[in-house]
Amino acid sequence: MKIGFIGLGNMGAPMAKNLVAAGHEVTGFDVQAPVPEGTERAASAAEAATGADVVITMLPNGEILRKVAAEVIPAMTKGAVFCDCSTVDVESARAVADQAAKAGVLAVDAPVSGGVGGAAAGTLTFMAGGSDDAFAIVKLLFDIMGQKAVHCGASGAGQAAKICNNMILGVTMIATCEAFALADKLGLDRQKMFDVVSTSSGYSWTMNAYCPAPGVGPKSPSDNEYRPGFASELMLKDLRLSQLAAQAVDADTPMGQLAASLYETFVEKEDGKGMDFSAMLPRFEKRKRA
Ligand code: NAD
Repeated sequence: MKIGFIGLGNMGAPMAKNLVAAGHEVTGFDVQAPVPEGTERAASAAEAATGADVVITMLPNGEILRKVAAEVIPAMTKGAVFCDCSTVDVESARAVADQAAKAGVLAVDAPVSGGVGGAAAGTLTFMAGGSDDAFAIVKLLFDIMGQKAVHCGASGAGQAAKICNNMILGVTMIATCEAFALADKLGLDRQKMFDVVSTSSGYSWTMNAYCPAPGVGPKSPSDNEYRPGFASELMLKDLRLSQLAAQAVDADTPMGQLAASLYETFVEKEDGKGMDFSAMLPRFEKRKRA
């Protein structure tokens, strides 16, 4: 396939590389980052999109996505697919899909889970929103860049799934970290805490697969001085998106709201910026009851 790839940062570059390695013809554009080897460099986003069967975007946020989409969609061939893999607000995903529909272009919102490691290894999970026809086309590419792709529903459903998942993740990480800090103060050995919880009803991905306590459980960013991994500021971004969505549909999400506010404090007022999101554990270790 002929693919236009816009946004070749930490995630986009390895994803594009995997498409090139699988034999696809990729033309890339980024305002800053260099294009990866094997990718042709376009002079603009519109140029990267011209004549492409699929245009993939991997951009920082919804505002930039809307700007890029406004430039790119008019340059696309009718029947081609605009596939956004960034994590953005549901409203932006739906606005871009509407714009695409008006131009006779198919649209898929397909945020990913799996981080930079998953992008490099081609083991991302894609959660997609859009029509069956559009999904069928991009699924061929998701199978190269990832290990799983779930068609979640109509436009916006991919972003909805992503922010709900990450709201659970943020809340669960905080719960796991505060429980470890409490266990410390109760004199409980961390390894014993892990042995019990990881096989009891408190188990979770954050405890079992990404344990925030160094030296306990499988290797995770806590064993690497909390270098990300998944940075706290990216978790804050996703929690804010979950709260934007909750406001828009009048959903009561008290735990998500509290998680967003704790990560906001951690990132903006404390030393959380640039640290993995599991660094909430050393934060709680230092604190007394509020
Ligand atoms: P990044 O900042 O490394 O990459 C974004 C790229 O977009 C940059 O290279 C930037 O120069 C480029 N860009 C910005 N404006 C542009 C424009 N107008 N035209 C062309 N290029 C433009 O970010 P990333 O870590 O690659 O993340 C990308 C998206 O993936 C984000 O939405 C993020 O939330 C999501 N995501 C990231 C991770 C992760 O672990 N990094 C995991 C899952 C999802």
